[in-house]
Amino acid sequence: MYANGKVALVTGAAQGIGRALVEVLLEKGAAIALVDLNPVAGLECKVSLDTQYGSHRTLFIQCDVTDEEQLKDAFKKTVEHFGRLDILVNNAGVNNEKDWEKTIQVNLISVIRGTYIGLEHMSKNNGGEGGTIINISSLAGLMPAAYQPVYSASKFGVIGFSRAIAAASHIGNYGVRINTLCPAFVDTPLLESIEKEEIMGEYYKYKDNIKGMMKSYGILDPSIIAEGLMNLIEDDGLNGAVMKITTSKGIHFEDFSTPYTPKV
Ligand code: NAD
Repeated sequence: MYANGKVALVTGAAQGIGRALVEVLLEKGAAIALVDLNPVAGLECKVSLDTQYGSHRTLFIQCDVTDEEQLKDAFKKTVEHFGRLDILVNNAGVNNEKDWEKTIQVNLISVIRGTYIGLEHMSKNNGGEGGTIINISSLAGLMPAAYQPVYSASKFGVIGFSRAIAAASHIGNYGVRINTLCPAFVDTPLLESIEKEEIMGEYYKYKDNIKGMMKSYGILDPSIIAEGLMNLIEDDGLNGAVMKITTSKGIHFEDFSTPYTPKV
């Protein structure tokens, strides 16, 4: 699918990875609903994008993705404003080991709910015209992150759900491709959360260990995540794929070709 002329909804669009994803989608010719909890950053983001791309290309919608009504309303407003929906990026996420229920709410439950609402709009079984969904997980969704156990659980959940719903979409002919993107450390405000005891809770004491990991893994620029996103959008052969992005190997895929057979 080419993004030119398409309509996208990106959650967590105001800063960090979300904003980089929005910029590449705008460059490729899409119109975008910028969905974010933070009205100040959201409006600042829109104003600065307007000067480059024109005010008609984006719509800012303040929305807490954990609030079911607000999330449904964000999709409704997007379709009312732009007339359709083709691309959904469930990107909003938090790192919070102290308020770990919130981490599950934002990173996993809202991604599941967003995917279901997206399918209500895009699935050919619901009268939609098809489309594509990209759920943002993390490398911490493929390997246990010892100092962020609940963040890690939420991101493992995103991969499991996205692969399973991608299979359901294929079997049920929804016409919607669903893929997952797993970045390693990326240079965004989220990384500052490891410095905060009120966020890291009992894992705060390991902050130097995490910093050491950042040093050895390296920190990615958000623009390479945007490049990976475009590959997932444009390659019509991809459904149920799990893309990894690291400093050492760049953009590549997790190999699930060996089926998991449980030993009983
Ligand atoms: P960030 O903190 O820089 O930006 C997150 C955005 O999401 C913010 O604009 C914030 O306002 C918004 N948001 C948070 N809670 C929300 C809610 N309840 N409703 C609506 N919007 C909400 O983070 P980021 O680094 O850009 O992360 C984006 C995604 O990438 C997250 O899912 C994160 O887990 C994932 N990720 C980040 C890294 C990294 O190192 N930065 C690595 C792997 C994966």
